[in-house]
Amino acid sequence: FGIDNTDFTVLAGLVVAVLLYLKRNSIKELLMSDDGDITAVSSGNRDIAQVVTENNKNYLVLYASQTGTAEDYAKKFSKELVAKFNLNVMCADVENYDFESLNDVPVIVSIFISTYGEGDFPDGAVHFEDFICNAEEGALSNLRYNMFGLGNSTYEFFNGAAKKAEKHLSAAGANRLGKLGEADDGAGTTDEDYMAWKDSILDLLKDELHLDEQEAKFTSQFEYSVLDDINDSVSLGEPSLHYLPSHELNRNADGIQLGPFDLSQPFIAPIVKSRELFSSNDRNCIHSEFDLSGSNIKYSTGDHLAIWPSNPLEKVEQFLSVFDLKPETVFDLKPLDPTVKVPFPTPTTVGAAIKHYLEITGPVSRQLFSSLIQFAPNSDTKEKLTLLSKDKDQFAVEITSKYFNIADALHYVSGGVKWNTVSMQFLVESIPQMTPRYYSISSSSLSEKQTVHVTSIVENFPNPELPDAAPVVGVTTNLLRNIQLAQNNVNIAETNLPVHYDLNGPRNLFANHKLPVHVRRSNFRLPSNPSTPVIMIGPGTGVAPFRGFIRERVTFLDLQKKGGNNISLGKHLLFYGSRNTDDFLYQEEWPEYAKKLDGSFEMVVAHSRLPNTKKVYVQDKLKDYEDQVFEMINNGAFIYVCGDAKGMAKGVSTALVGILSRGKSISTDDATELIKMLKTSGRYQEDVW
Ligand code: FAD
Repeated sequence: FGIDNTDFTVLAGLVVAVLLYLKRNSIKELLMSDDGDITAVSSGNRDIAQVVTENNKNYLVLYASQTGTAEDYAKKFSKELVAKFNLNVMCADVENYDFESLNDVPVIVSIFISTYGEGDFPDGAVHFEDFICNAEEGALSNLRYNMFGLGNSTYEFFNGAAKKAEKHLSAAGANRLGKLGEADDGAGTTDEDYMAWKDSILDLLKDELHLDEQEAKFTSQFEYSVLDDINDSVSLGEPSLHYLPSHELNRNADGIQLGPFDLSQPFIAPIVKSRELFSSNDRNCIHSEFDLSGSNIKYSTGDHLAIWPSNPLEKVEQFLSVFDLKPETVFDLKPLDPTVKVPFPTPTTVGAAIKHYLEITGPVSRQLFSSLIQFAPNSDTKEKLTLLSKDKDQFAVEITSKYFNIADALHYVSGGVKWNTVSMQFLVESIPQMTPRYYSISSSSLSEKQTVHVTSIVENFPNPELPDAAPVVGVTTNLLRNIQLAQNNVNIAETNLPVHYDLNGPRNLFANHKLPVHVRRSNFRLPSNPSTPVIMIGPGTGVAPFRGFIRERVTFLDLQKKGGNNISLGKHLLFYGSRNTDDFLYQEEWPEYAKKLDGSFEMVVAHSRLPNTKKVYVQDKLKDYEDQVFEMINNGAFIYVCGDAKGMAKGVSTALVGILSRGKSISTDDATELIKMLKTSGRYQEDVW
């Protein structure tokens, strides 16, 4: 962020004054930035119209995805078009094509766009965004399209990217068919929002393209073959082909692995240290330290670490059993057309695909039920599956509310009859791919250059509807807990862990506590001027990046003192919240930091579940410190919020609106606008999930 304390104080004062006279929208647009990295790769022909035409495609589905959700829905939609209408569909990531010829695409286009950050497009959509935002009036008058946005209403700019794309496409004369679809992850309705949008679009397309609907029949995009045995080219779950014995990783003369390490190729990092920060009856929190030496990966304080998990052994076995699959079967997939990509390293084994490459534990979608009807092992099961796939409410009662994963759900529907009728291609193409989980880095790149700390709360709770069933568990956090116990020589057999893992990984690649990771850059950055005041609000694991921030300031001050410089830091005020005193994260560290920061660091703690005490949240504490908070904001403070996006981030924003409105004697609407302005200019940053 280019704007710093002093500049900003002047600027903020000016803007507040102008705000009263000018239209707010124009100010917002002035302050809005369209940044992002250009990460597109060029492989083969990138001309979208040419590729569609040359491959005789009669429908195009595009997606712009940040974490894989938009991609997942785009693929589901494409498959349904193929299965129901026998269309020859091309489904493509916008990152891989150029769009100058978009107006010449001779088919209808469905666009799936996720919103990320402050209403931003996903990183890979930079070219696409650029193209449509600069398209001239009438330049896309031949284009016929529909659009589905994936967003979260707890964020300020709900479905901001899809809405922006829609606005520019419409201005360029493109013709939209049907409504703009808007999925809301905040309300937990993404799947149902998709189903409603999809049904209306399919009806429209039927008329528009005069399509005959057939009984949905799965057609694979791959040629599937079974191989005889495992050799060095067969993946056993390696995160990318580079890790296969047949593929020497590039290393320089010093033995440094050559990246770049990113979403397509993570680095296998040793966890050098891990410890339990607290453990109560039902909750655990794990601190893990990853060593990035030898990777050339650089991180900045405030970035995210992506961790690539594998599935728990119990869940893998359950899945294999329900589908009656043999884990040792070696198979290969070859795309049947050049626009399709194999989703993970192949050839591989059935067991490796299920353990490492597919998300088998999450909630099940009604859409998946509907596409499984064709595979029902008997007529009773087919009837039940058909009923549940059509009845949203019954599906919610019988499947979703019981926290069933795909194997639980199918076992329940068929009464235990095996689903050996389902092909491996269907599973590979219909179950989402395993995606890495992101963690706010809790170390500082100034004090720990090569080591990245993460602070994770272990997801593990009893199934509320089925108290005798296995608990509902998160994949990555339980893996981190298993590693923490193994690393600290706890006898796992003597613990009552809900799930266990193959900690050694494929060909022992993860042995001695290693996991695949990559660093994702974020915008969450301390102001460059150390005298700028800073307000941090981070309850629970939301405190993670603030531990990094404070460690950064401690090291900075130390270096300055050693260099003979007498720097005075601005006030750093941290609002932290925990349930009680047992789950107070890094409790022993904060007083040390306060001592080293010579009084410029202060921590305010809220407890929400102290026995016999009123519940207090960080929002309440903000109000208790109203005068100080207001004065700091007036003096150019940067505000940072991290943690729960649903309740906390909104509550904090509301509390700050109140503080500004009272402090400046302005209306709530004007204070809300001021907060928005702080957000768009980078002086109010959120890292919420
Ligand atoms: P998952 O396997 O992803 O499961 C997610 C949830 O679904 C769990 O609660 C699980 O119990 C539940 N579940 C499992 N099966 C089902 C089912 N069949 N039906 C319904 N529910 C089910 N987390 C932190 O702890 N610390 C951080 O610093 C942190 N920083 C983050 C930063 C960013 C930018 C983002 C996006 C997220 C961050 N998170 C952080 C959250 C983190 O990424 C993970 O989402 C979280 O740790 C859970 O991951 P998991 O793999 O353990 O659970």
